[in-house]
Amino acid sequence: MEYISTRGNVGKIGFIDAFLMGLADDGGLLVPSEIPVFSAEKLKAWQNLSYQELVLEIFGYFTNDEIPAEDLRAMVNASYGTFRDPGVTPVRRLKDNLYLLELFHGPTFAFKDIALQFMGELYTYVSRKQNKTIHILGATSGDTGASAIQGVRGKDGIKICILHPHGKVSKVQELQMTTVPDDNVLNLSVDGNFDDCQRIIKDLFADLEFKSANHLCAINSINFVRILAQTVYYFYAYFQVAKQQDVKEVNFSVPTGNFGDIFAGYLAKRMGLPVNKLILATNENNILERFIKEGVYMPGDFRSTYSPSMDIQVASNFERYLYYVLGENPQLITELMNQFRKEGKLVISGDDLLRVQAEFGAHGVGGQECLDTISKYKAETDYLLDPHSACGVAAADQCAESGDVTISLATAHPAKFDEAIRLCGIEQAFPEQISSLFEKTQRQTRVEGTQEAIVSELMKFYNA
Ligand SMILES: *Cc1c(COP(=O)(O)O)cnc(C)c1O
Repeated sequence: MEYISTRGNVGKIGFIDAFLMGLADDGGLLVPSEIPVFSAEKLKAWQNLSYQELVLEIFGYFTNDEIPAEDLRAMVNASYGTFRDPGVTPVRRLKDNLYLLELFHGPTFAFKDIALQFMGELYTYVSRKQNKTIHILGATSGDTGASAIQGVRGKDGIKICILHPHGKVSKVQELQMTTVPDDNVLNLSVDGNFDDCQRIIKDLFADLEFKSANHLCAINSINFVRILAQTVYYFYAYFQVAKQQDVKEVNFSVPTGNFGDIFAGYLAKRMGLPVNKLILATNENNILERFIKEGVYMPGDFRSTYSPSMDIQVASNFERYLYYVLGENPQLITELMNQFRKEGKLVISGDDLLRVQAEFGAHGVGGQECLDTISKYKAETDYLLDPHSACGVAAADQCAESGDVTISLATAHPAKFDEAIRLCGIEQAFPEQISSLFEKTQRQTRVEGTQEAIVSELMKFYNA
């Protein structure tokens, strides 16, 4: 398998190079040069594999033997050995045709752990094998940062700097990132919102001279490896449900911000997983809902909501989906993205839009609706959803047709978002790993949301 850019000017490169490149050097996003398609027999043969075994099977199609099998196995075991549930991503039945895929059993209690614990291992491995300095630079709406830091804290040869929007992450998210004492970790608390953080990072990655001089590596979902790791649980979830009831196809409902997670679902479908609809759940930052309903992709005003990890207007993975839905034409994508940069808007129509609507449903969940969903499911099923997972479930209730079987992704543990849970009048007990954070000392640097201010902090950090 080789990797190419959505804008056509990179490639073909191997797996490790794609991993290290992150954002493609031509400003596009890396995608596999072809998507493998797994037969029904193959899927059947995978049905009873453990999560770790399934990772190895699927990754086998993408890593080109660049990593010896025993090394890959050791990394996969180390990545998922820290999960609190032996099934890694267990599935629970919530009501008749609605299942929850619990993705929050990793060390930082959100789904980001599934890809980022592995990427932490892989960065450490590459740094050791190639004797390379690696400076991970990322923007977070709260969960990516905590998980990436956890994955590489204290590791030789690696430094990590994470930008989060000041005052716009939950208290627990902030504590998870800033109470880590290791010297290879820098937290920048940026005046602005997540889109500002992401734009600054993307611009730094697009400056190829700066990127190479400073050994920059990406952990955001612009990195293809993150998407790949997330395809695995779509397969795994389908197999778990197929053991409980007779299903041909399932829907997945996905709480969405940067379009990374749901794009992994789209890829799984292209790889042959029997998926009916992908239901895109957003909060009031509903640019993607409008795209699916009307074909217009246009960022609106940023809103702070109860589901801060989805408070995103410009979804960086959207370009990958556009690439596929518009027929894998890099010239067209380059034109469209240039136009988007100039005019702040992108429109698709006709058959293209019909194709989008055949594959996706969408629902933007309002603030009160989110809280009501948490309260309702707590009362009716005694299950406490976090506000992001509640958006997924509310969208599933809204978009699934009768008779559909839907798997809704539970992307975080409710303890990470106690602010919203309290508004529902619910008191929850925190897991010990979270309650102990409140005793620890925080370390973070507050900075202005400009490229100059960020670069100046980075230089101090890299030269220390
Ligand atoms: C990151 C995140 C999301 C959104 O995922 P994307 O891949 O950005 O679409 C949803 N819920 C939680 C809890 C998250 O941390």
